[in-house]
Amino acid sequence: MAFENLSERLQKALRNLTGKGKISEEDINAASREIRLALLEADVNFKVVKDFIKTIKKRALGQEVQESLTPGQQVIKIVNEELTKMMGEEAVGLTKSPHIPTVIMMVGLQGTGKTTTVGKLAYRLMKEEKARPFLIAGDIYRPAAIDQLKQIGADLKVPVYSDPEEKSVAKIVEDGLAEAAVHRNDYVIIDTAGRLEIDEPLMKELEEVKAVSQPDNILLVVDAMTGQVAADVAKTFNERLDVTGVILTKLDGDTRGGAALSIRAITGKPILFTGQGEKLTDLEVFHPDRMASRILGMGDMLTLIEKAQQDYDAKQAEKVAQKMRENTFDFNDFIDQLEQVQKMGPLDEIMKMIPGMANNPQLKNFSIDEKQIAHTKAIVYSMTPAEREDESLLNPSRRRRIAAGSGVPIVEVNRMIKEFKTAKDMMSKVTKGNFKDLEKLPGM
Ligand code: GDP
Repeated sequence: MAFENLSERLQKALRNLTGKGKISEEDINAASREIRLALLEADVNFKVVKDFIKTIKKRALGQEVQESLTPGQQVIKIVNEELTKMMGEEAVGLTKSPHIPTVIMMVGLQGTGKTTTVGKLAYRLMKEEKARPFLIAGDIYRPAAIDQLKQIGADLKVPVYSDPEEKSVAKIVEDGLAEAAVHRNDYVIIDTAGRLEIDEPLMKELEEVKAVSQPDNILLVVDAMTGQVAADVAKTFNERLDVTGVILTKLDGDTRGGAALSIRAITGKPILFTGQGEKLTDLEVFHPDRMASRILGMGDMLTLIEKAQQDYDAKQAEKVAQKMRENTFDFNDFIDQLEQVQKMGPLDEIMKMIPGMANNPQLKNFSIDEKQIAHTKAIVYSMTPAEREDESLLNPSRRRRIAAGSGVPIVEVNRMIKEFKTAKDMMSKVTKGNFKDLEKLPGM
């Protein structure tokens, strides 16, 4: 995961502060030193670190901490807020044109993932907005780039404009835009040339493309694995082209996080998306606040709560609680519950969003056996309606029938029924306020 080391070090630096009734200046100095080292080691720009530490110290010595009953917690809150600010506060989306098409010009050095990201963005727009994007192949110096974009276009069934005879990129872009206008495409994404390093002819060419296409968005693609260099590159591109935002690729391979933490502060421009892998689906909206919470091991509670709100039905939850109290919870409710949880996504991913869980060493090898859940459902689906409502009917011959019906060995059927009974029994006790024996619950 990105930020793994930084996350561990920051949490260690802050751990010493929690639980104290009062925090001295020396405590704050010690924690600041640790935070400073952690950020520098994560390859965050020196100046950005300096400003960050200055703000943290000033706020930590201020009233909000000194007068707080839980000063340690208060400092963590401040670090969280300042980390969020450093990365840009709120998630930023694409700028939409009031009339079609919305033009997106992609720029960046070679190998950063520009062409791949054109495809990811097109895929995202198609999926989220049912958009009809049109792609223009403006990287004419690397013949493979045109083929790569054509392949992406073919995979997505999206038109790609290219002209191998034309030497002027500005002209290609002009012609491509004219064609998109004929077909009334709602988005045009322009892939441009990259170089290994920034040079004058490249910048001139990009300025020409900008002039002819009047883009609503100029998105700079930078490689997170290059750390501070990515931030410096962003600064130079921004000075020449006034980019509207940044897409940070290869965050999946970046364990340090320096680029994500420096870019906003150095360029003043937001990170819109991050690339998290090579597939077309591996593009995520960048939420600075959620990222900060993740770094500090506070989990990604917002994402979790959003998921829960989307997927969880409060009335249904109350109904289940009532049944637990009355000890009438049956296999139908059990299946409903399983499905509610499954709808939220892969369970091990959900666990990592819970505060304190992301870096929990026990979670390193943790995985939920989805096959087991499928078996459990198959067993319940092989029961008759009467059996689902009353587990006491499940005698050996019925169990054998269920095993045959679900294709699951009889021992597994027996184990599942036993666990269900234990759980039901416990739930009934707990809802009545009796917490004894709770540790006997399966999985506790
Ligand atoms: P371009 O020269 O900037 O157009 O770069 P490409 O789009 O050709 O990408 C260069 C390499 O980076 C390819 O192998 C891509 O599959 C890979 N790549 C792009 N984005 C990501 C990402 O978010 N994560 C990972 N792991 N690889 C990526």
